[in-house]
Amino acid sequence: MKLAGTRTCPLCGSPEARFEHPARYEYDHCGLTGVFLEGNAVELTECDKCGQGTSMILNEVQLMDYLGLVILLSGPGLTGEEIAYLRSLYRMSQEDLATAIGRSRRETIADWEARGTQPVFRAPFDELNLRVVLMSLFQKKVVESKWCCLAPRHLDQFHAARRDFISRVDQMLTPREPHGPRSLKRIKSSGEWAAVRGRAA
Ligand SMILES: [Zn+2]
Repeated sequence: MKLAGTRTCPLCGSPEARFEHPARYEYDHCGLTGVFLEGNAVELTECDKCGQGTSMILNEVQLMDYLGLVILLSGPGLTGEEIAYLRSLYRMSQEDLATAIGRSRRETIADWEARGTQPVFRAPFDELNLRVVLMSLFQKKVVESKWCCLAPRHLDQFHAARRDFISRVDQMLTPREPHGPRSLKRIKSSGEWAAVRGRAA
């Protein structure tokens, strides 16, 4: 380990622990593969007296909320790890999440999470229901929580994405009015066709 200085060991209190701030740090204990922290976000210590090392992530609670947001805002292709990450961010059991998405079996979630880094669903449409629920749970469990640590900029990002997402899903899920025969009328002046609703031909 590159020596950046010495400080008190957080474990045994020895004043001689070495520490460093790595430029890039693989944040693998978050449960997600391939997440790297940059910008002196981590302090590693190593202590000769107790033989232990520690790693401290700056603003880790905020980082965990933000990582959840990053997953939510990514396109389709949720992986098993990502589902497990969000579930634990929301402090929910596999059973809780199964209930929230209208599945009766806890094992469904366990099977999805076991996919690890692999996408769980084949087609984007298949994960739509789950994404709707995960989005509203983020609002309830993270944004509205008194422990929410997201920066105002990230909250704005979430609210904008949520509004957009909900309005699109609403559009898809709103049953259209029952209709009789459709009338299409050619508008002569512009040379276009227009649907004429509620009028018998
Ligand atoms: Zn120590």
